[in-house]
Amino acid sequence: MRIILLGPPGAGKGTQSARIVERFGIPQLSTGDMLRAAVAAGTPVGLEAKAIMESGGLVPDAVVVGIVADRIEEPDARNGFILDGFPRTVEQAAALDRMLQEKNLALDTVVEFVVDENALVGRIAKRAAETAARGEPVRKDDTPEVFKTRFEAYRAQTAPLSAYYASLGMLETLDGMQPVDDVTAALMRTLERHVETTAS
Ligand code: AMP
Repeated sequence: MRIILLGPPGAGKGTQSARIVERFGIPQLSTGDMLRAAVAAGTPVGLEAKAIMESGGLVPDAVVVGIVADRIEEPDARNGFILDGFPRTVEQAAALDRMLQEKNLALDTVVEFVVDENALVGRIAKRAAETAARGEPVRKDDTPEVFKTRFEAYRAQTAPLSAYYASLGMLETLDGMQPVDDVTAALMRTLERHVETTAS
């Protein structure tokens, strides 16, 4: 199963991805996690991405597309994957289409979490507080100021992907404002339906 999770920062993509990993045994491919690892390791990609990520902007398409192209070649991604945080621009989506076509692969579905913008800042603050309470390093971009830029990048560059995938008949939307377990239940029902369709 190859799926994309769409939604603004704080919509719950990471939380729900972890549950899909558990249920379906496919890896979560989070470009944000991969970029943070590159920053921590001080690789050339990390050096290029660091300041952009801290400001809440988007890392150039070519950089992110390159990372994903390499990652989906890994053996654990052979039977499927969850893309979390990618694509984030229509250009990235087109690059992904080309990547998959070359391998004769197709996406199964794109699930968008629809959330109220006003709830997101609170969720981001909660994530930062919970991370700090566990004694783990807090993401530098989980602040109300940087959130504004991240949300603006989402609105201007990522939100158009809903129409892109809807026009391909691939978009499923879920109410991301429900309690987290209810979102998971709705998500699993949606994914099970796609598994059944693919298998038949
Ligand atoms: P995330 O963990 O998905 O919130 O991503 C954290 C940051 O990494 C974003 O604010 C961007 O700066 C960068 N990033 C992650 N994924 C992408 C992407 N697909 N395209 C461009 N920048 C990205």
